[in-house]
Amino acid sequence: MVLADLGRRITSALSDLSKAPVLDGAAIDALLKQVCAALLAADVNVRLVSRLRDAVRKDVADALNTNDKGQAERMTEVQRHNVVQKAIFDQLVALVDPGIEAWVPKKGRANVIMFVGLQGSGKTTSCTKLALYYQKRGFKVGLVCADTFRAGAFDQLKQNASKAGIPFYGSYTESDPVSIAASGVESFKSGKFDVIIVDTSGRHRAETELFREMVEIAEATKPDQTIMVVDASIGQAAEAQAKAFKEAADFGGIFVTKLDGHAKGGGAISAVAATKTPILFLGLGEHVTDLETFRPQPFISKMLGMGDMSGLLEKVQEVQQMQDPKKQQAMLEKIEQGGVFSLRDWREQVGNLMNMGPLSKIAGMIPGLGQMMAGAGGNDEAAGDKMKRMTYILDSMTSAELDSDGSIFYEPRKDALRREKERAAKEEEERSVAVASSSKAEDKKKKKKPKVPVRMNARARRVARGSGTSVREVEEFLMQYRMVAKLVKSMGGKAGWLKQMQGGG
Ligand code: GDP
Repeated sequence: MVLADLGRRITSALSDLSKAPVLDGAAIDALLKQVCAALLAADVNVRLVSRLRDAVRKDVADALNTNDKGQAERMTEVQRHNVVQKAIFDQLVALVDPGIEAWVPKKGRANVIMFVGLQGSGKTTSCTKLALYYQKRGFKVGLVCADTFRAGAFDQLKQNASKAGIPFYGSYTESDPVSIAASGVESFKSGKFDVIIVDTSGRHRAETELFREMVEIAEATKPDQTIMVVDASIGQAAEAQAKAFKEAADFGGIFVTKLDGHAKGGGAISAVAATKTPILFLGLGEHVTDLETFRPQPFISKMLGMGDMSGLLEKVQEVQQMQDPKKQQAMLEKIEQGGVFSLRDWREQVGNLMNMGPLSKIAGMIPGLGQMMAGAGGNDEAAGDKMKRMTYILDSMTSAELDSDGSIFYEPRKDALRREKERAAKEEEERSVAVASSSKAEDKKKKKKPKVPVRMNARARRVARGSGTSVREVEEFLMQYRMVAKLVKSMGGKAGWLKQMQGGG
């Protein structure tokens, strides 16, 4: 998982904080010390770390010392902890947020994307990844190889492109990169391609030469977007690269590669974000599908083991689009007439997930599962096992249960209320015998708002038995499902979500 170590260290600092009996200045200082040490170890710039520390302190002070003193005092210890956790989360998001909307290609026109970057940064690999990414979203994509310096560059692109089924353009004889780029783009434009990706050479001794060639190719191809590929292992040195790039081509976005293997990744991302250059994509492995769109909030959420539901749904959609676009359309139409995101829908999605390859990468996107994976050392076997148990649970459900929204597995609220009333009455009876002299005010306080824990019912116990899992596991599974269903709802229902996913980007 991306930046697993950094995520683990920060999560563990937050969990230490929740164990602190009182949340005072010393507890917050101890937390910040741990968080800052973890960020510095990930090569985040000292200046950025100290800015984060000050911002967290300010957020916490603002929230806990509100003008309404009464309100601050009424906060429970749990609420105060939440304030601190939220401040850390928000400031981590701010640390990696360039604050600039990422560019997206438009359908129905030719979108030219030019890739630049030093040799070895992962440019050619990333070009193919991006081409496939857009192809899966219904764009007609072509790849142009304008790297004439490196012997074998065209062969590499050709091989990658053919494997992924993407049309390509290049030449073994032409040595002028500007001329190849121009004719490649022209040829794809006349073939009515929507996205044309130009891979340039990175064999330059100095960045000035790289930028000069970039400007020349840009003049010849008029790209709508230029993407600079930055290797995460350079850590905070990415700031200088991003700055130089921005000066040479103000229209650029960044693709950070090799985040899968490098502890310095946090440094690279925060350094780029600090220059306010949009980060578009992350490269997370050598395989052609190891790419993620970069969004600050889901990125931090996933890093802290809190899941990345939007990324997960995007992946699921991708697979569904490839496997059966017609089925997806039928589902869309059915749902447009109104309907819930049922457990049956979730079963289909889980089934798709199983076909999506490296499970340890996908698991991090599911709330709760990421943390479990971290505990299991992030191996695919453990993730696979967990996913299998999810399918066993779903397979043990009846048709009516699958069509439900999951509430069918809980004791009805009225039963829970009745049970709670009976329990409270019994307690009251015992108390009146034991403490005959308790004051009325105290009585009232004790009676206040009984908490009503809703329990799993006999159905849930049957499913647990049938699937060879436990009621606890079924409950956990239903909690994860509810989070997904809530997200689908917040995206405008299943129809809105599907439309959003079909739109790409
Ligand atoms: P180029 O010279 O910039 O075109 O770089 P290449 O695309 O040839 O990549 C250089 C090396 O980095 C190759 O071995 C790639 O497989 C590898 N690579 C590229 N992107 C990633 C990534 O996101 N993760 C990992 N682990 N390796 C990558």
